[in-house]
Amino acid sequence: MPGKISAGAWPFACGWKSPAWLGGDRMEPLHDPLNYQSARILMADDDPDMRLLLGRFLKKYGYRITAASDGQEAVQQFQAGAHDLVLLDADMPVLDGFQACENMKAIPGLEGVPVIMVTAMDDDASVDRAFSVGAEEFITKPIHWAVLKQRIRRILERRQLELRLKAQAEIDPLTRLPNRTLFQDRLRQSMSLASRNHKKVVLMFLDLDRFKLVNDTMGHEAGDRLLQEAAHRLSSCVRKSDTVSRLGGDEFTVILPELDRVEHVESLAAKMLYQLSLGFDVGCQEAFVSGSIGITVFPDDGTDMSELLKNADSAMYRAKDAGRNTFRFFTPEMHAQALARVSREEALRHALEHSEFKVYYQPQVDTVSNRIVGVEALLRWDHPEEGLIPPSDFIPLAEETGLIVPLGEWVLKTVCHQGQAWLEAGHTLRWLAVNLSPRQFGEKDNLLGSVARILKESGFPPERLELEVSEGIMMGDVEQAVATMQGLRDLGVRMAVDDFGTGFSALGVLQRFPIQTLKIDRSFIQQLDREMGGSVIVPAIIALGQRLGLTVVTEGVETKEQVARLEEEGCSKFQGFYFHQPLPALKMGSLLIQEGVDPEAPPLSPVLPHPAAN
Ligand code: C2E
Ligand code: CA
Ligand code: CA
Repeated sequence: MPGKISAGAWPFACGWKSPAWLGGDRMEPLHDPLNYQSARILMADDDPDMRLLLGRFLKKYGYRITAASDGQEAVQQFQAGAHDLVLLDADMPVLDGFQACENMKAIPGLEGVPVIMVTAMDDDASVDRAFSVGAEEFITKPIHWAVLKQRIRRILERRQLELRLKAQAEIDPLTRLPNRTLFQDRLRQSMSLASRNHKKVVLMFLDLDRFKLVNDTMGHEAGDRLLQEAAHRLSSCVRKSDTVSRLGGDEFTVILPELDRVEHVESLAAKMLYQLSLGFDVGCQEAFVSGSIGITVFPDDGTDMSELLKNADSAMYRAKDAGRNTFRFFTPEMHAQALARVSREEALRHALEHSEFKVYYQPQVDTVSNRIVGVEALLRWDHPEEGLIPPSDFIPLAEETGLIVPLGEWVLKTVCHQGQAWLEAGHTLRWLAVNLSPRQFGEKDNLLGSVARILKESGFPPERLELEVSEGIMMGDVEQAVATMQGLRDLGVRMAVDDFGTGFSALGVLQRFPIQTLKIDRSFIQQLDREMGGSVIVPAIIALGQRLGLTVVTEGVETKEQVARLEEEGCSKFQGFYFHQPLPALKMGSLLIQEGVDPEAPPLSPVLPHPAAN
């Protein structure tokens, strides 16, 4: 058919055939919108001669015609087929043109289709009435053909522009997927349709894992290409009636307007995850990401849009917590957890203001000299009702909410003052270790400023303060991390890499960091017992650390056998329940008294350069 083009050439205007990933064609295929002359026009007139004349005239200009002989028929035709313009005779039987126009304008989704009233009546009242029922134009009989031609042309051109603007406002320019606005529109529609038909709507919320890494390391152009390809792959998984949208960033949503079987949803989620797990060609190299999907069902899980979105979002976080590259359904328990999280956050703030935190201290022992060489400070929340809460229960939340920054500063201050008090009481310590969270570490200037200030205020010698950062920070921006560490080193403090072996850091990178201590993660010690990979890895890490001139501390030793095994491999410094549990400050102080003075500990003052590591 001349003038009809493929959907791909201009797929985004509503009212024209939209590809499956745009949510299927709610409206029928139309015409080539760039060529308004292929528009489809509905004309209604009760006079057969007039219909004939008008029809011939319009066809001459390439328009496609549907004809109706009364107002009612016109409304029916209008509703059934997609039209770009309506020509309505005002004076018709059954339903007159004004009423027909009014009815047409009340049909949801079609209110924008322009109507021209054609009538013999050119009195003011008729003109007013035509406009008040929503007609865009008014033309009088006998028809002045040149005028009609111009009017039709002008209206169609304006309509095209309108549709383009609408599409622009609803389509994400990068991926060509519906954006948040259109997504919400579709979800609202699906929900109201489903509640009328007693059906269910499935909403999926998908977030790409590790996308930020691709963006940061390979550049935004690569990131953009990945998003485009991801959009394409996700769209290829769904049915015509489903809608994939991009909410922004690396967040996508999928609406399945009809839930048939849960298994279908599961297999679709699995299919999408599989598609995302395949490598992405982003130019010079291949990038790998995965997805985490949260799934919620209307009306079972929620009946309003924001509730559903919240549910899908928290289910998505569940999927992330479960290790990513997976999907989770929303459950009411999750909702309760979300509420609990909010109140936990409030409680955490309250705790900081009301001094509910305590620092415990766990000794690090040297089995050659049989002395305590260092102490690690470990945070506890002394909750008025729940008792002592371990850091694993609140540090992640503090990290997420940013509360870790003031909290970490409080720990540092408490520990430095305590350390100074111990030193003044004559207890010796080679170092006191404090954990830094990634967020604290990431705020370089703030961190350097507060460490310097706290050292000065407390008088605690910098060379006896060791700051532990987990291996993870070596995987991000290495330059930046090295610079931050160097800044801390310049203040005179020691640096330790914590939980070593759990990340994926390249061993070669270790040399670039100005560190003094390597702490081998607890999980390897457990593997040592079970003769898993640990029996090979632990000796290798110990050897590597020693070759780099680092103090190697093995964490989490619980048995005599473990200590013996590790000593055989050349490790002599340990931290673990086998020696000591983390202790409150008072108990730690007594233990230091029992220990007496450590001959190898640096003298108190004047401050000398700290002894070589190890
Ligand atoms: P981490 O830095 O690896 O601290 C060692 C953890 O292992 C401590 O857990 C300690 O109690 C535990 N542990 C020590 N010896 C043994 C053992 O023999 N067996 C077993 N099973 N566990 C042992 P804790 O105190 O619960 O702290 C957990 C994590 O919380 C710490 O891991 C650290 O990452 C974080 N954390 C603790 N205090 C702070 C803090 O002040 N700031 C920040 N940012 N993080 C902290
Ligand atoms: Ca630590
Ligand atoms: Ca550790």
